[in-house]
Amino acid sequence: MKTIFHLDMDAFFVSVEELLDPSLKGKPVIVGGKGDERGVVSAASYEARKYGIHSAMPLRTASMLCPHAIFVEGHLHLYREYSEKIEAVLRSFSPLVDMASVDEAYLDMTGCERLWGPPLQSAHRLHQAITDQLHLNCSIGISSSRLVSKIASDQAKRNGILWIVPGTEANWLAPLEVKRIPGVGKVTEKQLATIGITRIRDLASLDERFLLDRFGKWGLALAGKAQGKDAGGWFDTVIGAPEDPKSISHEHTFNEDTTDEKLLRATLVRLTEKVMKRLRDHSFHARTVQLKLRFEGFETLTRAKSLGDATDIDRDIVEAILHLFNSNWPKDRKVRLLGVQVSHFTDQAPQPSLLTGDEDRKWRNALKAADKLKDKYGEGTLHLGGALKGVYKDRVHETAPKEPVRKPPK
Ligand SMILES: [Mg+2]
Repeated sequence: MKTIFHLDMDAFFVSVEELLDPSLKGKPVIVGGKGDERGVVSAASYEARKYGIHSAMPLRTASMLCPHAIFVEGHLHLYREYSEKIEAVLRSFSPLVDMASVDEAYLDMTGCERLWGPPLQSAHRLHQAITDQLHLNCSIGISSSRLVSKIASDQAKRNGILWIVPGTEANWLAPLEVKRIPGVGKVTEKQLATIGITRIRDLASLDERFLLDRFGKWGLALAGKAQGKDAGGWFDTVIGAPEDPKSISHEHTFNEDTTDEKLLRATLVRLTEKVMKRLRDHSFHARTVQLKLRFEGFETLTRAKSLGDATDIDRDIVEAILHLFNSNWPKDRKVRLLGVQVSHFTDQAPQPSLLTGDEDRKWRNALKAADKLKDKYGEGTLHLGGALKGVYKDRVHETAPKEPVRKPPK
């Protein structure tokens, strides 16, 4: 029997802003930009949420719902710093930690009783350590599975701890709505509602065979989840095991749809840099690069290109992505979103060619030095040409409530 903690910071971005400016406390605060800007809400304080404001909502809608809200730009680098501090506290409790996003994590606390006491006591100690060292509130869910712990931390909010005693998981889940299950979005919720399934107990009473026929593999996973088991999706992975992605991607949505070629190209370079940094962190080389291009009005196209040799050098991917962009972008069409993805990984470098071997080596050395700086000072510190400073603006969202961080595989 495992003991799994799910820790989720309470209104993380806003709480960090309150540390910087205590006068924000208790007020409707919105992080993400000004109320008349085109972007979306990154995070909202509990006070702002009372007006129906939530992350990913357009800033303009938020300012209509709550005209007296305080809009702040936010401090991304600070949130990352705090996230690292949170992880350090967690690692002092267990070596098996998965940061699921910037403000939530799973801890495998199995076998830690001798060190920290029984589950509830160790959770109190962890909660106290976070409060003492970071002056931030969090909520903790405890159970024998990631799934139930995640749902429990949500029910424990704000600033609470909830332990689902082993053996009582299914009973505890039974009266909750199906949408509490991570991965059950609006679409699945609707499909289930059409056959009369609204509570987790309804789902648990269904025949596995029926769910398999109706929803395929996902249906089978749902049957397990309704019992409180880590069945299917990203919950199958072991906490603390290294991430093993099939693809790595970054996207950017512009505040205003744009035809500014300089901005578009700079954005593609910057997205590529972020993708390639992560690729090198895994010591992978990628063979395929894919461009995602969304136009005004949401029409979206994706175009992929295979490279002759797998690579881990920014230059190669930048070249391919700009080529894809040039041949697929009609210059008068406004662009809403750009995305860069690399896939088809190998963990071996290709044979250095006589023509480019020397130059590749120089690139690799430069990138190695740059990666080190980024690890130390943050991803935004350094750009190797192309990604023009001030032209492109990074953006991050706090995890929206109830949304899974990683999408379950199809
Ligand atoms: Mg949170």
